[in-house]
Amino acid sequence: MRPQWLFTPGPVPMSEDTRQILGAQTPYFRTPEFSQVVLECERLLVALVGAPSGSRAVFLTASGTAAMEAGVINLLGSTDSALVVNGGSFGQRFCDICRCHGIPHRELRLSGSDPVPYPGTGARALLLNGHETSTGRCYDLDESGAYCRRHGMLHLVDAISLFVTDELNMASQAIDVLVLSSHKGLALAPGLAMVVLAPTALAVLKERVPSFYLDFHPYLNDGIRGQTPFTPAVGILLALLQRLRQIHAEGVSVHIDKARALAAHFRAGIRGLPLRLHASPAPNAMTALERTDGGDARDLVVALKQRHGLVLTPNGGALAARVFRVSHMGEQRHDRLAALLVALHAYFNNPR
Ligand SMILES: *Cc1c(COP(=O)(O)O)cnc(C)c1O
Repeated sequence: MRPQWLFTPGPVPMSEDTRQILGAQTPYFRTPEFSQVVLECERLLVALVGAPSGSRAVFLTASGTAAMEAGVINLLGSTDSALVVNGGSFGQRFCDICRCHGIPHRELRLSGSDPVPYPGTGARALLLNGHETSTGRCYDLDESGAYCRRHGMLHLVDAISLFVTDELNMASQAIDVLVLSSHKGLALAPGLAMVVLAPTALAVLKERVPSFYLDFHPYLNDGIRGQTPFTPAVGILLALLQRLRQIHAEGVSVHIDKARALAAHFRAGIRGLPLRLHASPAPNAMTALERTDGGDARDLVVALKQRHGLVLTPNGGALAARVFRVSHMGEQRHDRLAALLVALHAYFNNPR
């Protein structure tokens, strides 16, 4: 394969340290040494997302969707009701999870930058994606948190494509359940999903969960001694520890500022091209763009990959022909972004 540079919203470019750890022999993990790894990962993760004291994290060997599903089914059942902010394919996924498990839900369907039409009456829980990665739109988590507190609702937030690039704080945003995964802002390999549970969520976990693998109880119990009930993604946890230590040492704000600068660099650089932001407010994590020259977004994505080895992401579904996405997550670099800008300008000078 010719050299490529990823601007995809997961996987994202990984650091040299991460690639070294992931390339090493996997150690045996039922050991006191590995327990220390898991315990430190949990301690650092809970601190970095601003979780209130007494919060816990569980580590699932799965992609992020499993953490979304686990969060929902450990807190909600067929006698509860959920309110789902559905502004794209990840919001739709929360609806599909509720439907699959027979959880009554009301959907707040919106497109692009529509304001969220929070209803006057609440539900048991609000489910939303802090950044709806299919449209590149961010929701105001202070607003959703305040709404949940006002109505006595659980606030379940999928922050998979928000963490480390954008402001996130479980305590100040009144988040009870936070869903994360390894291969977006955390810039690791896919395969590790995480759920952080505030004491307000731990206190109301369902006794019976309609899944063996995703039931939080054994994860929480075994996690006390730094273990998981089933084989964990050992290598990714080792890489996570290195990454969390680094983020902790530098400060999350350094990573947020870096992503913000990359996003600003990119958005300034496309001025004058027949492109516009698809939705707003846009996160630092990613820029989703629409072609305004009538051309097909998929042609552009194919051309940049073939001509320059630069990998952008087309959209799926109804937006496939119109929208494409450029991620600013992970070990993204200004020189690569500059190369992308040159390539985009060249493309629009000569689209064929
Ligand atoms: C990537 C992503 C997920 C998880 O998708 P997987 O394919 O299961 O990794 C969930 N929510 C959001 C907002 C995402 O960007």
